[in-house]
Amino acid sequence: NAKSAGKARFSFFTDDMLKDYQRRVDIANAIEYALEHNEFSVHYQAKVTPDGVPVGAEALVRWRSEQLGFVSPAEFIPIAEQSGKITEITQWVINRVCLDVRDAIPRVKRAIPVSINLSASDLKKYHLVGFIKGAFIKYGIPPGLVEFEVTEHSYLDNLDMANRFFAEISAMGCEVALDDFGTGYSSLSYLTKIPIDVIKIDKQFVDNIGASERDDALVLTIVEMGRRLGMELCAEGVETAEQLKFLSDNGCRIIQGYLFSKPLPLPEFLEYLQQVEQKLSNEA
Ligand code: C2E
Ligand code: MG
Ligand code: MG
Ligand code: MG
Repeated sequence: NAKSAGKARFSFFTDDMLKDYQRRVDIANAIEYALEHNEFSVHYQAKVTPDGVPVGAEALVRWRSEQLGFVSPAEFIPIAEQSGKITEITQWVINRVCLDVRDAIPRVKRAIPVSINLSASDLKKYHLVGFIKGAFIKYGIPPGLVEFEVTEHSYLDNLDMANRFFAEISAMGCEVALDDFGTGYSSLSYLTKIPIDVIKIDKQFVDNIGASERDDALVLTIVEMGRRLGMELCAEGVETAEQLKFLSDNGCRIIQGYLFSKPLPLPEFLEYLQQVEQKLSNEA
C-alpha cells in the first residue's frame, strides 16, 4: 500500500545495510575481546627466488574469534583501522614476529627476513618507531631480519608523515616494501622521494599475465621502472607456472604466491624451510 511504499522510499537503510553495520559493530567489539584474550596468531608465507630459494617471509595475522569464528584480515583490518584498534594489533604482531624470529634463528641454516604489514594509521603513531626499536632490543633481533610493508595507498595517504616514519625505520636497517603497487591511482613522481627498497606488484597485475599484450606490457614496465629506480621487485599472488616464467624471464627476482607456498603456521613454515634446504643440499 501507499503507506509502506512511502516508508520504503524514505528509509535510509536497507536490510543489507543494517546487517552489514551490525557485522561491523560485532567485529569491532570482538577485536577488543580478542586483544584481551590473545585470539590472534600469525602465519608466514615464503618469498622465494624464481627457482624456489626462500629469501624472506611475510607475517600475516590470523584471527579465530570465540564469538565469530574465523574472520579474514581483509575484513577485520579495515574495521580495526576505523575503530582505532589497529596499532594495538600491529604491536601484538610485532611482538609475536620478534619472538618467532628469535626462536627460529637456531633452527634454520640461513635466517631470512620477515616482513610485517603496517596500516596507514600506524604511520601516524610516532611512538610505534620506539616500540619497534624496543622490541628488537628486548628480543635480541638484528634489525635486518625484520622488514615492513605498507600499501601504496596508505603511504600516499599522508606522504610527509610516512616519509618521516620510514626514514627512521630505514635508519634502523630495516627494508621497506611498497605493497599492492599499482592500485593507488597516483602520479608516479612520489617514487623518487621515498625511502622504499622493494616494490610489490599487486596480484591483480599478476593475475592478468597472459590475458593480453597490454596486460603483459604493464607488468614489464613496472619491473623495468623498479629496476631503474634501484628497487627490488616482488610479485604477489603468483599461482601458475606461466606467471612465474613470464616474471622471471623479465627480471622479477622475488616471487610470492600459492605456487610455492601458502601462509603457514610457524611450525609448518619451519618444516617447509627445512625441506627446501634438504632439497637444495641434495642437488648441490
Ligand atoms: P597483503 O599484505 O597484500 O597480503 C597478501 C594477501 O594475499 C594475503 O591475504 C595472502 O594470504 C594472499 N595471497 C598470497 N599469495 C596468494 C596467491 O597465490 N593467491 C591468492 N588468492 N592469495 C594469495 P591475507 O592473509 O588474507 O591478508 C589480506 C590483507 O590483510 C593483506 O594483504 C594485508 O593488507 C592485510 N593484513 C594481513 N595481515 C596483516 C597485519 O598483520 N597487519 C596489517 N596492518 N594488515 C594485515
Ligand atoms: Mg603485505
Ligand atoms: Mg600485497
Ligand atoms: Mg594485495
